[in-house]
Amino acid sequence: MEKEKMQTLTPEQKDFLMKSIRDVPDFPKPGILFKDITTLLNDTQAYTLLMRHLEARYKNMDLDFVAGIESRGFIFGAALAAKLDIGFVPIRKKGKLPATTIAEKYALEYGVDEVEIHIDAFRDKDGARVLLIDDLIATGGTAEAAVKLIKDAKGECVEAAFLLELAFLDGAKNLRKTVPVYSILEVH
Ligand code: AMP
Repeated sequence: MEKEKMQTLTPEQKDFLMKSIRDVPDFPKPGILFKDITTLLNDTQAYTLLMRHLEARYKNMDLDFVAGIESRGFIFGAALAAKLDIGFVPIRKKGKLPATTIAEKYALEYGVDEVEIHIDAFRDKDGARVLLIDDLIATGGTAEAAVKLIKDAKGECVEAAFLLELAFLDGAKNLRKTVPVYSILEVH
């Protein structure tokens, strides 16, 4: 399919992507319906469709960096950055990044955690245009913390992109008050 036509997905393409994601009940604890994207990643057609769509959407947005949230945001984020010929920045769980970091605490759908970014992640480019990416937004706590980190590291979060939005949890709705949010798929 021509890349120009990939900026928006048809309902059929969205349905195809949605069906490629596996639901795993009660993981990592009872009551959580885990959205397993490994079945999208190992489906050549689904993964190619997703990455071509992301490339088409973001290639003309004049981005400087893609920042991905550990760990599934690394998969799409790093692949997208390579397609866009720009750098990738990891936002990691506490204690994983080796150099000087900035940290932010957040509440998760299942627990409490803390994320970090290297203080020099954007190579001292003030106002670097950054796309934040993760596989899924639930309560939005992780993404909100990540947006704050990007700002603290002197970047500008131009948009936050998610493969899946759990719309019944209002995380994306709240995040939209701060930054533009793009969710490819929504679960209601
Ligand atoms: P939250 O901070 O509540 O928006 O949670 C988002 C983060 O937790 C993302 O990094 C997701 O990968 C992960 N996550 C939360 N809920 C789920 C779920 N139901 N299925 C898969 N991943 C989830």
